[in-house]
Amino acid sequence: MLDEAFEHADVSSDTIERLRLPKSALKVSIPVRMDDGNLRTFAGYRVRYDDTRGPTKGGIRFHPKVNIDEVQSLAFWMTFKCAALGIPFGGAKGGVTVDPKELSLHELERLSRGYVDAIADFIGPDVDIPAPDVYTNELVMGWMTDQYSTITRELTPAVFTGKPLSMGGSLGRSTATADGASLVIERLLPRIRESAGLPEKPEDTTVAVQGFGNAGAAIAERLAEAGMKVVGVSDSSTALHAPEGLDVGPIAERKRESGELEGEALEGEVSEIEGEELLALEVDLLIPSALEGAIDADNVGDVKAKAIFEVANGPVSPDANSELLDRGVVIAPDILVNAGGVTVSYYEWVQNRAGLYWDADEVRDRLRDKMGTETDAIWEIAEDRQVPLRVAAYVHALRRLGEASDARGSAERYRAAPAA
Ligand code: NAD
Repeated sequence: MLDEAFEHADVSSDTIERLRLPKSALKVSIPVRMDDGNLRTFAGYRVRYDDTRGPTKGGIRFHPKVNIDEVQSLAFWMTFKCAALGIPFGGAKGGVTVDPKELSLHELERLSRGYVDAIADFIGPDVDIPAPDVYTNELVMGWMTDQYSTITRELTPAVFTGKPLSMGGSLGRSTATADGASLVIERLLPRIRESAGLPEKPEDTTVAVQGFGNAGAAIAERLAEAGMKVVGVSDSSTALHAPEGLDVGPIAERKRESGELEGEALEGEVSEIEGEELLALEVDLLIPSALEGAIDADNVGDVKAKAIFEVANGPVSPDANSELLDRGVVIAPDILVNAGGVTVSYYEWVQNRAGLYWDADEVRDRLRDKMGTETDAIWEIAEDRQVPLRVAAYVHALRRLGEASDARGSAERYRAAPAA
């Protein structure tokens, strides 16, 4: 896919060479005193993939499957996401190999602060700016910002984004990923309606959302508010299906309060299905919002959705991507669809640097403009080059990375320069 993007982007060989390897990668161990008095050591990582366009930016994931390869891939994606959106950041990612559900709140706090102790020299508001990702949230960002400020002996809110409002967070950040995704859907639907065979009216449009977390629950709510029929939602333990549409609001509220999807008093005809069945529902839009690789060579044959909007990072494997495209399924790529999160993270950083805070309307208007402009630009590349939206998004990003890389000094420039 990247090779294909290189073909269309017309960038210098230096650009490609710069992107071949991550700029730097850090592996740390984090000793944590557990509540029972024992010491446990956790493995943590932070990868800064590329900073050609600005300080690096990317979330921190707490998950049992976190490893250096995954963190590196996610950092690479962040590089392209920031470039595709024209945000002046490079790409990074971090993570700790842990099942946070097994930790008490105090243990989670000690782990979060310990991670910052271990990576403090590697991050900073002008160097690398982490944010939340899977199983990390505002609370964790608050502890981490506090810990960093303790280490540096100055209040440094701009080092993390996704913070609580009271610590310099931005209005609109908690729903930014879903807000951005719904803006992309709104913008693309009229354009793909005919080719994907989607219904005219929102109320006839059926949606399934895999992963009912920060991003997934909010996008399900947004689409239900837009009048669409959300017929299936799932989290890591439960999947719900209602052919006539779920009452998403109360389900999201319950999930936020109890952490559980299942529960009594669901309105109408709702059945519990297997997680894999949710991916196989006959729906117009499938919104994978959990983890990478959800749709792969093994289950792609079962997918019946007409269009896929990737809210998760990398939810469709390369094999599955090719097969779906061959079948005419439209796939709107992660680096565009979920970029509302990093966009408002950027706005949070700007507000922290300026010490001037925007109201919710200002954040929303700026996000709407940004997502609209970049979605249009990517759509135009797809039309112009006759390539899938994912390739177009990478072409768009590569062109920006190429300009920045060449401005830093390209081989062509050196060759053209007169000898000293
Ligand atoms: P989260 O931890 O809040 O939610 C993840 C959800 O996925 C949880 O409800 C979990 O139960 C569910 N899940 C895990 N495995 C599953 C499975 N096999 N089947 C169904 N559900 C499963 O995380 P999040 O922040 O919402 O992130 C979700 C995805 O979106 C990730 O890929 C993340 O990288 C991406 N993303 C998030 C943001 C953001 O701002 N939150 C921004 C950009 C991208």
